[in-house]
Amino acid sequence: MDCLFCKIIDREIPGDIVYEDDEVLAFNDINPQAPTHILIIPKRHIATLNDLADGDQALMGRLTQTAATLAKERGFADDGYRVVMNCNEKGGQTVYHIHMHLMGGRGFTWPAG
Ligand code: 5GP
Ligand code: ZN
Repeated sequence: MDCLFCKIIDREIPGDIVYEDDEVLAFNDINPQAPTHILIIPKRHIATLNDLADGDQALMGRLTQTAATLAKERGFADDGYRVVMNCNEKGGQTVYHIHMHLMGGRGFTWPAG
């Protein structure tokens, strides 16, 4: 499949991987927007949030738990951090394999642009 993140999962292209288990992969974003900017993805290809199916609840929970665990490991969990998922064009999605952005190590304001 012609998917950038599937190629990182399959080691066809390099990724700066920081966590992996049987269902989840996490790697540093190539264009970080914060001192820590990690992308957390399911190993199964899911193009957008709109393509989630019944049965994917636990998988989504694992993505979220991974974000919190990585934030704790990196020491900014108590200070706070941001988790974002973009969906489709108006949501700012550019890679069509769902991914959770974990950003920490600086302050954020809301609403975002
Ligand atoms: P989106 O805009 O779809 O929510 O986020 C896609 C993210 O993937 C962007 O933050 C972008 O910097 C990142 N990205 C795009 N290409 C690559 C790549 O080849 N490797 C890595 N590690 N990140 C990438
Ligand atoms: Zn994919």
